[in-house]
Amino acid sequence: MTDKLENTSANNKRENPRSPVPHSYSKALSLWGGRPYYGFNAFVQNTFHEKVYKIAVDGGFTCPNRDGTLGYRGCIFCSQGGSGDFAARRGQDFNAQLEEGRHLLKNKHTGSRYIAYFQAYTNTYAPVPVLEKIFSPALAHPQVAAISIATRPDCLDEEKVRLLSRLSGIKPVWVELGLQTIHEDTAAYIRRGYDLSCFHKALALLQKYGLDVVVHTILGLPGETFDQMEETARYLSALNIQGIKPQLLHVLKGTDLAADYSRRPFHILTLEEYTHILIRCLEVLPPDMVIHRITGDGPKSLLIQPLWSGHKKYVMNYIHKALKDRQTWQGRRFEG
Ligand code: SF4
Repeated sequence: MTDKLENTSANNKRENPRSPVPHSYSKALSLWGGRPYYGFNAFVQNTFHEKVYKIAVDGGFTCPNRDGTLGYRGCIFCSQGGSGDFAARRGQDFNAQLEEGRHLLKNKHTGSRYIAYFQAYTNTYAPVPVLEKIFSPALAHPQVAAISIATRPDCLDEEKVRLLSRLSGIKPVWVELGLQTIHEDTAAYIRRGYDLSCFHKALALLQKYGLDVVVHTILGLPGETFDQMEETARYLSALNIQGIKPQLLHVLKGTDLAADYSRRPFHILTLEEYTHILIRCLEVLPPDMVIHRITGDGPKSLLIQPLWSGHKKYVMNYIHKALKDRQTWQGRRFEG
């Protein structure tokens, strides 16, 4: 592998102009495979021409917010699984984890390929040779179409990003950054452990090396207004990022957020409120930004609030109906 691979088609893609915004709800539906937003399924179909499921794998990493480097308690909402409670068992080798994931999907997956999602904890929190060793089996596996790497901006430097760029010359590599909010007061409350300038620095590096970036956001963080949540979406809409993962705040058992909630219960979004703010965010996002999810499904055994979020199918139907009733779509208020 040589640095020549850094100059991949991903770099060229950055120079393309933004896609035009559809001018009606029905145009949006026909553009995005029956949804009024550019969802993950439509993106996968466009990219791989078949259904490709994500399988969460655990690379055996920890996190600076948990190992004592920044703190021991983690982000306030983070459960013991390090945001990877669905990841296969820790310590297994990659092929065994993929096989286990394939087995779990066998009743619903008809395609032949998968996206290896390094989800648990911080998946670039190791020296470059270790990272290369951990990601290599995924890149070599014939049924892995792409790899997705969840990490923190403060755990990326030029050497690591250069490695990821080299790997992206073999198979697509997406880097997922857990930003959650642009508001520093909220970031301090959730103990995120880095500021917005750190996010910018990492994003600039990833963009320099032509990597696709997906940003995680949380809707419903304590103390944030709807306007602040929309500000985060607007802010991201102005950056050249390829995907976003909006997520409803979950209060999970065993977290410090749960302890705070039991001491001083804060407002938990209702389904109506979540739908309202999610739609506001979708409306300001650019039409070519992939919406990797419109809600999260936290582990039911740990879920304290909001209990309605455990009914994923109902929630999805509710959101889709609201989009239809309002005849609105992703990008309708995008200011490109
Ligand atoms: S950065 Fe991720 S893994 Fe680390 S504490 Fe925060 S949510 Fe958990």
